[in-house]
Amino acid sequence: MGFLVNSKKALIILASLIFLTSDTFANDFKPIIVIHGGTSGLGLTKEEFTKREKVMKESLKTGQNILEKGGSSVDAVIAAIKVMEDSPEFNAGKGAVFTSDGFNELDASLMDGKSLNAGAIAMARTIKNPIEAARVVMDKTPHTLIAGEGADRLAKNSSLEIVDQKYFYTDHRYKQFQEAKKSKEVLLDSDKAKAHLGINTEPYLGTVGAIALDKNGNLAAGTSTGGTTNKMTGRIGDSPIIGAGNYANNDSVAVSCTGTGDIYIRAVAAHEVASLYKYKKLPIEKAAQETIKEVAALGGTGGIISIDKNGNVGYAWTKDKLGMYHGEARIGEEPKVFWPLAK
Ligand code: ASP
Repeated sequence: MGFLVNSKKALIILASLIFLTSDTFANDFKPIIVIHGGTSGLGLTKEEFTKREKVMKESLKTGQNILEKGGSSVDAVIAAIKVMEDSPEFNAGKGAVFTSDGFNELDASLMDGKSLNAGAIAMARTIKNPIEAARVVMDKTPHTLIAGEGADRLAKNSSLEIVDQKYFYTDHRYKQFQEAKKSKEVLLDSDKAKAHLGINTEPYLGTVGAIALDKNGNLAAGTSTGGTTNKMTGRIGDSPIIGAGNYANNDSVAVSCTGTGDIYIRAVAAHEVASLYKYKKLPIEKAAQETIKEVAALGGTGGIISIDKNGNVGYAWTKDKLGMYHGEARIGEEPKVFWPLAK
């Protein structure tokens, strides 16, 4: 009898040990979420920056909470992006820029580094949170990219929140649009910022992106944008193009880009970071920097956020007159937002 009780005790101790060990392994990865709010001309005043920093911190905290509770990188990325899409400060969702015909057309994408499944929407006009529609494409359709009316219809049929074009109207984006029309230019958010052009409009932030590594070692990436001001109606940038503006693969990295999308597509920028990391064995920071050089060599400007499968971060941007507003939050640490200063 005593023998039986002892062996039962031994079994319980053994089971607890196995449980503890497997838990330790499961937590081997220190979760992290990284975001960007696009590139912008340098020279936001402290006050202007504080407004944006608040939203970026909220975005980071939202993603961090999910990761802290053991949630997936895909969920963290979506939640973090939604916070920025709902703010008028960024060129995504609510604060989207105008097309040459005066519409707001939204692009977004999402990639799951574990399954290599991905979803994206482009040229949507009525979806309040485009990143949620990207998830619907990924999870509920056999497709990867759905554009235009089809994207709007899919969102509606999937009970996502639908808004009319008026929702996306903001004075500052309209002003920017009028300026771009006058000068017949297609503008990035970073263009025409007062710091380097002496123009008296407040520079707003741009495209948003989030990348994350969860406790199970799964990477995910998401990007959302209104594109470029005064873009041709129907123009699609890099943000919804998997491999160009967004990419995640558990075997290497998660990446989100911002900048001259027409060039990021030709540089296959997000996948280039993955390739340089995976095949050339460059550290993640270097892989991002080399990719930005390739973008710049083609005449592009912008930035890249990336994390590798071990949670190391790699940031890069074309430094000329630009800064990339970005932030990171590891679990258990205060979220940090980086505000590039004009020299
Ligand atoms: N990459 C975006 C696009 O070209 C714009 C941006 O990041 O500001 O649509």
